[in-house]
Amino acid sequence: MTVEHNHLKEALETLKETRVRITPQRHAILEYLINSMSHPTADDIYKALEGKFPNMSVATVYNNLRVFREVGLVKELTYGDSSSRFDFVTTQHYHVICESCGKIVDFHYPGLDEVEQLASSVTGFKISHHRMEIYGSCPDCTMKEVH
Ligand SMILES: [Zn+2]
Ligand SMILES: [Zn+2]
Repeated sequence: MTVEHNHLKEALETLKETRVRITPQRHAILEYLINSMSHPTADDIYKALEGKFPNMSVATVYNNLRVFREVGLVKELTYGDSSSRFDFVTTQHYHVICESCGKIVDFHYPGLDEVEQLASSVTGFKISHHRMEIYGSCPDCTMKEVH
């Protein structure tokens, strides 16, 4: 069984446990999120699946993503505009973001929990999470600049 299969199976289990109905659309959206590493927008998902579900709208996709977010299956990455990106929640990871094309790539970097602890002991805050993003130019865009 592939990692992707396991993620999908676990996600479906979570939905069952939280009594969220698993419709064919929800199944397809989850599967797309797990298989695409691209942190898609609701619009990207809609475009990828509209052939399969002709009656589905972008609003339906968005509503389903919100349901997934509420049960903790996906994270919504907001960047101050309407085009939120969605990320299937696996393990804690960070994002490097291309300033030219907007591509978001995952990378793992352990150890920043210390920052939360330090922030907490310095300020007395109860820390919920932190967000760190790295910006630059992706290999594709760097290539285009050179040529
Ligand atoms: Zn790029
Ligand atoms: Zn990610």
